[in-house]
Amino acid sequence: MKKHVVIVGAGFAGLELAARLSESLADAVHVTLIDKNDAFYFGFSKLDVLLGRRPPADVLLHYGEIAKEGVEYRRETVTAIDPARRRVITNEGSYDADFLAVALGADYDLAATPGFQQGGFEYYSLAGAERLRAALDDFEAGTVLISVLGHPFKCPPAPFEGAFLLHDLFTRRGIRDAVNIRMTYPMAAPVPVTKEVSQMFLAALDERGIECAPKELVVGLDARERTARLASGGSVPYDLLIGIPVHRAPAVVERSGLAVNGWVPVDQTNLATRFPGVYALGDVAGGARTVAKAGIFAEAAGRVVAAHIAACLRDSEPPPPYEGDGNCYVEFGAGMVGKVEVNFLGGPAPAGRIIAPSRELAAEKEAFAATRRRSWFGLDAHAVPVGMAARAARSLIAEGG
Ligand SMILES: Cc1cc2nc3c(=O)[nH]c(=O)nc-3n(C[C@H](O)[C@H](O)[C@H](O)COP(=O)(O)OP(=O)(O)OC[C@H]3O[C@@H](n4cnc5c(N)ncnc54)[C@H](O)[C@@H]3O)c2cc1C
Repeated sequence: MKKHVVIVGAGFAGLELAARLSESLADAVHVTLIDKNDAFYFGFSKLDVLLGRRPPADVLLHYGEIAKEGVEYRRETVTAIDPARRRVITNEGSYDADFLAVALGADYDLAATPGFQQGGFEYYSLAGAERLRAALDDFEAGTVLISVLGHPFKCPPAPFEGAFLLHDLFTRRGIRDAVNIRMTYPMAAPVPVTKEVSQMFLAALDERGIECAPKELVVGLDARERTARLASGGSVPYDLLIGIPVHRAPAVVERSGLAVNGWVPVDQTNLATRFPGVYALGDVAGGARTVAKAGIFAEAAGRVVAAHIAACLRDSEPPPPYEGDGNCYVEFGAGMVGKVEVNFLGGPAPAGRIIAPSRELAAEKEAFAATRRRSWFGLDAHAVPVGMAARAARSLIAEGG
């Protein structure tokens, strides 16, 4: 009889795991893939929406398109997880798994920063990116403060990409001289994977006249006075505040007993939790060593979990250990994209190799997305049927996705 693999969360990690299991183990496993939404979108698509390059409807990839042998997608909301029994409860029913993969990503805790919901903007959700795009249309002059409101957060380059792209936008609109772009972040340096990588970001910020305050955490906003309060005691005035929200594991994961100190601890060689047959992968997972929360590392984790399940079923050698490696593309504005090849776990310390921004890398980033559209959804084209996409976008935006 086929084994039942239940994957909760169809993001980078869950989609890659489902695709790999379908390719390599369709004769041995049946996969149930559960997500509360009916469409996926790349994290970086929010930058497209923020800049008005693409409407939200255009960036959605519908789970209904998935036609993978042995994979059944269910649009349901997970309401409870019992890791000891490998049982998942949803708003529609319950599922018992031989292997359970928890890939529910990270949620945003907007209320963790008092005043942020009333007085701030964000572009880490699709709805937030749309709202901010509209606010930017009306913005003519003043201080834009981009603040990282907590750590860890998804995609370490994304706050800085946001700053570069806003510089670009204001320059194109001819108002850059009237806008002061400032950043605060709690880290000692941007993207601290290695010194060289941070240096690349610092140089790019400096070239664009973007002022940075490292090791400064905004802990609250006074929306009326338009000031951001710092943990260190001071405050920063702003006209438009863009926050990278505090991240946390989804509440259902916290309730399940899987999380310890915020995230689900795993054996970083194979993403296994302390519960037999239960894995945690992607942004929801944590471990002794840091692996940044990003799609590319979540996807790599999906590959390792698929190989580990195959090894368990075939009673064969375990796969090579997870290295937390992959290529991060970074938008620098003006159509230029850079790349950082990162490996967090393969050596004694994280390693990163920088490849300078170019238009060739912008094309490579497009190809990266196209490959995933093909392997996860079987789609060759960019576009999705407009009517269907528009409906789904409205429902996603209404849910704050
Ligand atoms: C602005 C921005 C830019 C980014 N750029 C990049 C980039 O260039 N490269 C990169 O690698 N990463 C990038 N990222 C990060 C990337 O999007 C995430 O790290 C990645 O999506 C994590 O994958 P995941 O599978 O762990 O979680 P997710 O992709 O977040 O998937 C989790 C899934 O779980 C589902 N879910 C959650 N709770 C429930 C529930 N209770 N019931 C059912 N389903 C549920 C969600 O609907 C979601 O589909 C970016 C992120 C942002 C915000």
